[in-house]
Amino acid sequence: MSGETDLIGVGMTSQRTRNRLTDRLRVQGIVDHHILGVIGSTPRHLFVDEALSHRAYEDTSLPIGFNQTISQPYIVARMTEVLLSEGPVDNVLEVGTGSGYQAVILAQLVKRVFTVERIGPLLEKAAARFRMLRLRNISYRHADGGVGWPERGPFDGIIVTASPRHIPQELVDQLAEGGRMVLPLGTDDGTGDTQNLVLVTRTSEGFVSEVLEPVHFVPLVKGKS
Ligand code: SAH
Repeated sequence: MSGETDLIGVGMTSQRTRNRLTDRLRVQGIVDHHILGVIGSTPRHLFVDEALSHRAYEDTSLPIGFNQTISQPYIVARMTEVLLSEGPVDNVLEVGTGSGYQAVILAQLVKRVFTVERIGPLLEKAAARFRMLRLRNISYRHADGGVGWPERGPFDGIIVTASPRHIPQELVDQLAEGGRMVLPLGTDDGTGDTQNLVLVTRTSEGFVSEVLEPVHFVPLVKGKS
């Protein structure tokens, strides 16, 4: 699978540019070699408009239209690392497909990815990228992902890439026991409220949560458009 993504990327950007990005992620504390390898071989320039493709290997979030952004590579790496840190994970739900980049990184590291996006045109573009990269283990759906994808659960992992105010109970309910959910929590709207990355682990009695670090995500919005 990663062989195919390698092929598509070759010639479009130099490997040296991508190595600079993974070197930077290493300096920021990302240690998982599989994750660094997959980020180093995935053509991020295909996930942004051509006019921004020269910035695709900078460690920064970039606009993807509809007031949304493709996440900063460090955040993608960090959330993926937290999600997979207790060992192999079979099925993962992603809420907020956006450009499809996070889903493509995950699809190269786990068995199956289910991703939900509320903005139809963004999802269509992301789906075209999944096809172009020949990743057949990604299922996608145009819906409000705040309520998860109950028909496909329970999930070993859930990654939420837009920020709710509170931990969505529907998502906790769709985690398998011992399953992990990584999500930004809180708003970041200038009212003094802060937003943090949080790890939620499902237990037999309920769940436990741990605050990891401050982050900046777009808000999780109800309904689809
Ligand atoms: N993971 C993306 C970045 C996501 S930006 C990437 O790798 O590019 C956040 C995305 O979450 C946006 O596309 C936004 O439309 C979507 N979103 C916000 N609220 C949502 C909801 N309730 N259900 C599904 N998607 C949602």
